[in-house]
Amino acid sequence: MILPAVTELLIIQDRDRKLRQLNTELKNAPHERKALEAKLAGTAAALDAAKLRAKEIEVKRKELENSVGSLNERISKYENQKLGTKKNDEYQAFDHQIETLKKEIAGLEDQELALMEAAEAQKVVIAAADKAASETRGMVERQIADLDSKIKAIGGQREEITAERAKLAAGVDEDLLDTYQRLFDKKDALAIAALANEICQGCHVKAQTHIVHAVKSAKDVTHCLNCGRILYLET
Ligand SMILES: [Zn+2]
Repeated sequence: MILPAVTELLIIQDRDRKLRQLNTELKNAPHERKALEAKLAGTAAALDAAKLRAKEIEVKRKELENSVGSLNERISKYENQKLGTKKNDEYQAFDHQIETLKKEIAGLEDQELALMEAAEAQKVVIAAADKAASETRGMVERQIADLDSKIKAIGGQREEITAERAKLAAGVDEDLLDTYQRLFDKKDALAIAALANEICQGCHVKAQTHIVHAVKSAKDVTHCLNCGRILYLET
């Protein structure tokens, strides 16, 4: 048997715990939203970085292309000058310079080829980053929408529970309600604890025999001698 006043307090405690839970969820919502937005920004930044890398590769490749172009111009110039000379040593000198430039061009073209391969590889990286970014965007947008509707629902639930709680509290003795409130605030949202197998479920200490009897008889509000919580017999 449970004292009727304690039964009422148990219902109030249930509502208070629900309110506390809802308030925690409301408090955490901005952090949740920030974390989601950070996730989104992270994948977008990865995509930007991958695209930037592709641009850098292309710029380098163009530079090499221009260098090859100007070396080829110099070769043409030497070829023309070579045609105009009749001296054998000058002729050989031009040939030697042309040969040196051709070697230089070959080296640059090797670098260009490597960059073209890097550009191809970068396309794969960009495609993967793009896919990850759009998947994350879709997921985060859904989660933010869920969060928004949850916050909206919490507003209504809070109002409902608060109104119900006020009605319940109006029927409880004022001093008892004060005691309950103090315990609820101090004892981690558990002011009313069950006594199960003679053990207080709030502090897990065995109750003395006279306390067990008092709780069983349910004639008065009985507190745990160890933690001070109001006890009721678990049925
Ligand atoms: Zn206790």
